[in-house]
Amino acid sequence: MNLKDPKQFTADFMAYIQARNPGEKEFHQAVLEVVETLSEFLIKNPRYIHSKILERMAEPERVIQFRVPWIDDNGNIHLNRGYRVEMNSAIGPYKGGLRFHPTVNLGIFKFLAFEQVLKNSLTSLPMGGGKGGSDFDPKGKSDNEVMRFCQSFMTELSRHIGPNTDIPAGDIGVGGREIGFLFGQYKRLRNEFTGVLTGKGVGWGGSLIRPEATGYGAVYFAEEMLKTRGDSIKGKTVAISGSGNVAQFAVEKVLEMGGKPVSLSDSNGTIFDPDGFDLEKLEYIKLLKNAYRGRIREYADKYDVPYYENKKPWGIKCDVAMPCATQNEISGEAAVTLLKNGCTVVAEGANMPSTYDAEHAFLDAKILYAPGKAANAGGVAVSGLEMTQNSMRLSWTREEVDEKLKDIMKNIHSMCLKHGKEPGGFVNYVKGANIAGFVKVANAMMAQGLV
Ligand code: NDP
Repeated sequence: MNLKDPKQFTADFMAYIQARNPGEKEFHQAVLEVVETLSEFLIKNPRYIHSKILERMAEPERVIQFRVPWIDDNGNIHLNRGYRVEMNSAIGPYKGGLRFHPTVNLGIFKFLAFEQVLKNSLTSLPMGGGKGGSDFDPKGKSDNEVMRFCQSFMTELSRHIGPNTDIPAGDIGVGGREIGFLFGQYKRLRNEFTGVLTGKGVGWGGSLIRPEATGYGAVYFAEEMLKTRGDSIKGKTVAISGSGNVAQFAVEKVLEMGGKPVSLSDSNGTIFDPDGFDLEKLEYIKLLKNAYRGRIREYADKYDVPYYENKKPWGIKCDVAMPCATQNEISGEAAVTLLKNGCTVVAEGANMPSTYDAEHAFLDAKILYAPGKAANAGGVAVSGLEMTQNSMRLSWTREEVDEKLKDIMKNIHSMCLKHGKEPGGFVNYVKGANIAGFVKVANAMMAQGLV
C-alpha cells in the first residue's frame, strides 16, 4: 500500500478489494467512493492504516445466506434466497433494512451494509450496520403469498437477530405489510414481544414519523444545504424519482415547505406534472401505490399529464433533484443534463443512486450535492428512536419525534461541513460524510482490539 500518494493509495486499496470480492461491482463502487475521499485523511492518520481498519470495515463480520421455500395460492412450490450481511457492530447492534427485489445479490447487500455502517455512525445513535433481504418479488403476489413468504424467511432469520443483536427494518419491497408479517412470525417463534424490527405499526411498538422519516429527512437536509447559500426550498421546482415510501414523503415535505414537486417514477416510467403535485394528488398517489399497488402510469391517465415510458425524470428542468428509487439511477449523461438544465441541488433519498460518473459531475460542478448516507439517514435515525421507545416502553408524540429528526439532520449537516469544507468554501458533502462516519467507527474498533 502506497502511504504517500492518496491516488495511489486508493488504487492499491481497490485492487485488494476487487481481488477479494470478484464481480461485486456495486460493492466496489461503494468502497471506491469512500476510499477516494478518505485516502488523504488516512495518510495523515496512519494509525488507522496500521490497524487495517478500512480492510476490516470492508469485510463483513458475518454473512448469512439461506433457502426460503414457500407455496403460492395455486399450490406451486417456489424457492428464494435469503441474506443478512452483518457488517459492523463496533458502535451498536447491527441495524439496517431488508430489501425484497428480484435483482438483489450478495454484492448489492454488501454495498448497502457498508454504506449503512457509516450512515448509522453519522446519526450519532448507537447502531452498527447490516442489511439483508431476498430475491423474492412481492409485485403481483397476493397478501397470503407475501405472508407465507415472510413467515418462511423469518423462520430462518429469527436465529440470527434480536433486539440486542441485529434489528432489521424495511427497504425496497418491504413496507408496513411485510414488517407486520415478519414481526408476527418472530414473536410466535420466540414467544416474546420485543423491538426486534423497526417500522412496526404505531399500535404495536412502532414510532410515529417512522414511515415519513427518510423522505422528510432528505428534504430537511436539502434545506440545510440551501441555507448555506442564503436560499431555501420555497419556490423551487423539484424532480423526484421513485413512488414508494421515500418518494411519497419527500413530495409531502417539499409541498409543506413551499416547493413544487413535479415528477415521480417507477421501474416502468416517469410522470411529469407541470403544475406540480398538491395534497389531493398526493393522496391519490398514496392510494394508488400503497393500497391498490398500481403503476405510476395510472396517474398520467387520471390527470392527463405526460408519461415517459422507460425513462427516468432527469431530463425534466428542475432546481432540485431527489433520486428516491434505487442505486445507479442517475447516469453520468443524466447528471450532465441535470446540470445543463440549471439543477443546483441533489439530495439522495435512495442509496447510491448516482453512478461514479454522475457523482463526479456534481462534485466538479460544485453544486450542493448530498450523498445518500447523509441525506437519507433520517429513516434509520427514527428507527433508532423507535428502538429507544421500545426499550423504555413509551411512545413519543409526533412533534417530539419530528423535532428529534430535524435536530439529527442538522447535526449530520454540521458534521459534513466540519469535515468536508474545502479551501475556497466549497463543501464536499461526500468527503464530509465519509470522514465523519468513519472516525467514530474506527475509534471504537481501535479501542475494542482485534475482533
Ligand atoms: P419502495 O419499495 O417503497 O419504493 C421503491 C421505488 O423505487 C418504487 O417506485 C420502485 O418502482 C422504484 N424502483 C425500485 N427498484 C427499481 C429499479 N431497479 N429501477 C427503477 N425503479 C425502481 O422503497 P423505498 O422507498 O423504501 O426505498 C427507495 C430507496 O430509498 C432505496 O434505494 C432504499 O434503499 C432507500 N432508502 C430507504 C429507506 C427507508 O426508510 N425505506 C431508508 C434509507 C434509504 P416499482 O414499483 O416499479 O418497483
